[in-house]
Amino acid sequence: MPNVQGGIIIKHNIKMHNNIVKPIISFIIIFIIVVINIKAISVFDNRQEVNKISNEIDATKKDVIELYNIIEEQEQVINYINALMKEIKKDIKEIKIEIKNVKGASSSDKELLGSWTITAYCPCKSCSGKYGNNSASGTKLKYGYVAAPFRLKFGTKIIIEDIGEFEVVDRFGTEKQNKYGTAIDVFFETHAEVKAFGKKTKKVYTIKEDK
Ligand SMILES: [Zn+2]
Repeated sequence: MPNVQGGIIIKHNIKMHNNIVKPIISFIIIFIIVVINIKAISVFDNRQEVNKISNEIDATKKDVIELYNIIEEQEQVINYINALMKEIKKDIKEIKIEIKNVKGASSSDKELLGSWTITAYCPCKSCSGKYGNNSASGTKLKYGYVAAPFRLKFGTKIIIEDIGEFEVVDRFGTEKQNKYGTAIDVFFETHAEVKAFGKKTKKVYTIKEDK
């Protein structure tokens, strides 16, 4: 019965084998488990680290997007301000032109003499006596002409505020008025117009002809 014997030998061998192999296998298994655990722990740690970093990246992305939005908003504000500035510059340009025009009209073309007394006269006897339509300069009187003091030479163009533009062609009846007066006598064709005109105080300007 070699088989039985052999079986015994094999069994014995296995037993013997078990006695040596078991601790080795146990050791290997324990070793493998330890290694796997260490690896697992390190992988877990790495994963946690990766998660942390990816969270940080997400947070940073959010910040960047927020910053981008803020920048975009500011760009819009800047664009709006630039557009406003353009309009304001345009307005300033227009205002400057207007100021130039007003200055040109008021200071370089017109010179204020002051607030003078404005009266009226006509060719009638009570207004002009024997002179009628004849002026001191020789020019036949009509509406548009005035009598003024000596300081305003014949031919001087004047503006009477609210009334109009006139030319000096005549003088007053008295030397005193001609020398020191601050009055203008506006010529009218009829005494009714003289009466209607009455007596006013108005600003008088001389117009400079040198342009
Ligand atoms: Zn009259």
